[in-house]
Amino acid sequence: MVRNRKLSKSISDVGWGMFANFLDYKLKAKDGQLVEIGRFFPSSKTCSCCGHVLDELTLDIREWDCPSCKTHHDRDGNAALNIRNEGIRILSMDLGTPFLLIEAV
Ligand SMILES: [Zn+2]
Repeated sequence: MVRNRKLSKSISDVGWGMFANFLDYKLKAKDGQLVEIGRFFPSSKTCSCCGHVLDELTLDIREWDCPSCKTHHDRDGNAALNIRNEGIRILSMDLGTPFLLIEAV
């Protein structure tokens, strides 16, 4: 089934949805809150130091230097910081309790 591109995407979407529902359920049981980051939030190509957003960052580039502030970034570490900061920003608008942040794919 995963060889069919349309069907595999649907299966992946359902899998992610079930995972998010499970996390939401578990967090609510502990008085927590799940925060989902927007699908198109540029977590990898945004500098976590100055906020500069690259026009493009291909998947094969694992490290990059910000052209604005010259900070050297590990792609995944930088994305994690940006997701964390975006989640805190969203929570600060809702005045919720941060427990877990995930990125919708
Ligand atoms: Zn920068």
